[in-house]
Amino acid sequence: MKKVALVTGASRGIGKATALLLAEQGYDVGVNYRQDHIAANKVVEAIIAQGGKAVALQADIADEEQVVAMFARLMAELGPITALVNNAGILFQQSTIENLTAARINNVLSTNVTGYFLCCREAVKIMSARHGGNGGAIVNVSSAAARLGSPGEYVDYAASKGAVDTLTTGLSLEVAAQGIRVNGVRPGFIYTEMHASGGEAGRVDRVKSLLPMQRGGEPIEVAQAISWLLSDAASYVTGSFIELAGGK
Ligand code: NDP
Repeated sequence: MKKVALVTGASRGIGKATALLLAEQGYDVGVNYRQDHIAANKVVEAIIAQGGKAVALQADIADEEQVVAMFARLMAELGPITALVNNAGILFQQSTIENLTAARINNVLSTNVTGYFLCCREAVKIMSARHGGNGGAIVNVSSAAARLGSPGEYVDYAASKGAVDTLTTGLSLEVAAQGIRVNGVRPGFIYTEMHASGGEAGRVDRVKSLLPMQRGGEPIEVAQAISWLLSDAASYVTGSFIELAGGK
């Protein structure tokens, strides 16, 4: 069966590494991004240069209409989705709770939680046996923050990842008999541009000596776990989480 993956937030970081790896493994890849079309197009060009197939798909995953339109375009250009990687996520300036506003909290939740729900919903409509689909696999990119809580940094972000874990558990049970596996990964301290959004681009280097493995992680190390969870090698794995936090 043809393998078609959608990776949200694939213009850089963990999403980009995942899109490139899945393309190497024979998936046609939908490269979702929100605004950086130049970076997304570079990912698509890299995949095509390796002999793969990919399309850049602009959509804000927090926007229901844009998500529905993205899935329609994916179907039209690559065919039925077989693998979804819910990866696009945001966080804001490090802060204690006194400075968290409702607008900020809702912004984090609408991307990191509602966005994941919407993409799962659209994927399930195509993959599930009860809709005539052939099954598939979903990986939700959570965070070690769901366990650690990110005190003094971004408890709102950590709480959104707690919700992602509950979504993963609940949906895995809901669709297990529909031929769909749903799993999660919890990265810890990975070298990407996300930390600059929190106001500390060098965050991984600051904390690395405190980690059991005494180093930060690379996006490819997360991508490899995601691709394994999507693969037939993980055919009896659902509702599971892989920790990628150097032992933290
Ligand atoms: P980056 O900030 O490097 O990349 C984020 C990606 O998400 C970009 O491609 C961005 O696209 C896209 N994006 C952001 N908001 C939206 C949106 N509303 N709709 C569509 N795309 C969007 O992040 P990372 O690679 O570091 O993180 C990826 C995932 O891994 C996130 O879920 C994050 O929470 C999680 N994670 C990361 C850790 C780390 O240490 N880096 C640790 C634990 C978890 P554009 O540039 O176009 O806006």
